[in-house]
Amino acid sequence: MSIAAARAAIEKNIRQVCAGSGRLAGDVKIIAVSKQQPDARIDDALASGQRLFGENRLQEAQARWKARRAAYPDLRLHMIGPLQTNKAGAAVALFDCIETVDRAALADVLVKEMKKQNRFPACFVQVNTGDESQKSGVAVDELPALLEHCRAAGLTISGLMCIPPQSDIPALHFALLKKLAERHGLKELSMGMSADYEQAAALGATYIRVGTAFFGEREG
Ligand SMILES: *Cc1c(COP(=O)(O)O)cnc(C)c1O
Repeated sequence: MSIAAARAAIEKNIRQVCAGSGRLAGDVKIIAVSKQQPDARIDDALASGQRLFGENRLQEAQARWKARRAAYPDLRLHMIGPLQTNKAGAAVALFDCIETVDRAALADVLVKEMKKQNRFPACFVQVNTGDESQKSGVAVDELPALLEHCRAAGLTISGLMCIPPQSDIPALHFALLKKLAERHGLKELSMGMSADYEQAAALGATYIRVGTAFFGEREG
């Protein structure tokens, strides 16, 4: 399937899900996760009209997008992978949204870098909804304190993001993330990947992160 056809199919599925769950299809935005995809597919995606992309590694994202940014001023890039504090400055310079704020120290460095660069990407907090020890994201119990820290530090948080454990039913995590967002008055919800984006859309996702269903299998 061509990338344009894959994109159209995902959009169609989202329209159907939204029609069935009382949501507006325009409220569910597709992040094309371009990590480890060859250049030709990236250019096909851009040619199909896609402008919103997600990356999980800073250096790879810089290599892929720094030059293309100049050619596509309406491009939007989301950081969806773990972020080290020593790379926060470069992330602020490149991304339009950082979805993976998960600790106070990172929030502090982001605030400092944003002021220094006078550039203010949107920020989401990643929540470890499955309480998996090896996974990044703030524990559900510690979310209120982290949000309070961000507020006090001057970092605006506009949404939540999660990656459900592979072994679990994703819908449980999507419903929990939505509840947490409502409780804290946060509008954006980044949840759902290739295998489960329809469920995520039905349960309130405002961003879905689709890699292989959009581009085909990764090559990296
Ligand atoms: C790779 C990745 C995705 C996309 O995964 P697919 O299963 O290929 O859709 C989504 N979210 C994050 C955080 C990722 O790292």
